[in-house]
Amino acid sequence: MHSHHNALRVARELQPAAPVTLVRPDAALNAARFFTSAFPGKSFYAVKANPSLHLIETLWAGGIRHFDVASITEVRLVRGALPSATLAFMHPVKAEEAIAEAYHTHGVRIFSLDTHEELQKIVRACATDGVPADDLTLCVRLKVSSAHSKLSLASKFGIGVADAPALLLAVRQAADSLGICFHVGSQAMSPAAYADAMAFVRAAIVEAGVTVDVIDVGGGFPSRYPGMEPPPLETYFAVIERAFEALPISYSAELWCEPGRALSADYASVLMRVEKRRGNELYVNDGAYGSLFDAAHVDWRYPVRLVRADASEADVEEFAFYGPTCDDMDHMKGPFLLPSDVKAGDYIEVGQLGAYGQAMRTGFNGFGEGATVAVSDEPMTSLIPAGGVPQVPGNVVQLGVAARH
Ligand SMILES: *Cc1c(COP(=O)(O)O)cnc(C)c1O
Repeated sequence: MHSHHNALRVARELQPAAPVTLVRPDAALNAARFFTSAFPGKSFYAVKANPSLHLIETLWAGGIRHFDVASITEVRLVRGALPSATLAFMHPVKAEEAIAEAYHTHGVRIFSLDTHEELQKIVRACATDGVPADDLTLCVRLKVSSAHSKLSLASKFGIGVADAPALLLAVRQAADSLGICFHVGSQAMSPAAYADAMAFVRAAIVEAGVTVDVIDVGGGFPSRYPGMEPPPLETYFAVIERAFEALPISYSAELWCEPGRALSADYASVLMRVEKRRGNELYVNDGAYGSLFDAAHVDWRYPVRLVRADASEADVEEFAFYGPTCDDMDHMKGPFLLPSDVKAGDYIEVGQLGAYGQAMRTGFNGFGEGATVAVSDEPMTSLIPAGGVPQVPGNVVQLGVAARH
């Protein structure tokens, strides 16, 4: 990968006609070091947020040793790159063939489930010559509320608290290690999401009367976007640790989390070009079928900036984007704030696309190809709230230090 300094240099030197993914390895290193030092347990990177090998290896370099994989393709990808990583197959509904390959070929020992049928599937797939495996960690996925999150994950997976005790008892018989996991939904804007979920966990444990070895609070840790400024992640971690310590579980029980967005959002942005302007609508060369799926479908607002050698003096106005495909749905209503003199030929950098941006590109309509270039400037927003600790590339984020700008 070439290393340029920032979006402006990339625009000048490459004059790219297709969108360019700008990656910031230092931002991913910072995020990895932040989670490994500040989260009071083990952090599994949720690979679906961004399966870039370069990112996965960078997170490893930053201390991440555990990975949440949700398909056999993700299992093969991470195992191929990181032979000694711990993989957890945390999709509650898996193909039996995928479970067998994960267990027998790739050394996966951790699986999630939310039904008795999936338990039978896992037991069958992991047996050797009819002898059941005795080294499984099985996590029962509990259904919890997504009330505090921007993107719900409450309807598809998870067993209700009323039905959980019977499944917990059955899993206890089959597993060497029993876990409970949940997902509060993505971009959880309040730490209360985790406190509420932990109340469900407590109820299920008390009702089942089983010994639980692992509590996995899933993902959902927020990043910063325009109009979405969550409390600092340390506040989330403190709420989680307090709730964990109050659970009726053994002293040696482990606490896990599965951040996707929070480990990857800062890692990538996209440099795109304006091909046409119609009033305050900009026809740009990336869109809903590229890295802006969430901007189109759930009106996610990403930070944007005009990339010009001489900063525009014009007032800022609200703009909407049309992507490059011929589909009317390729529309991102924003609003995105840009100088009012933005015009065809200008480049725009869209930030915070490392999570669920890069990962969701398609080749629809012949678009989707584009270069990837490493840059070394700061991400467009960071893990650290405004007024908090500035992030220095390559340095560990100092926790608990009340720094000022
Ligand atoms: C998507 C997902 C994650 C990551 O969620 P984020 O909101 O990106 O942190 C973690 N665990 C599971 C099971 C998931 O499906």
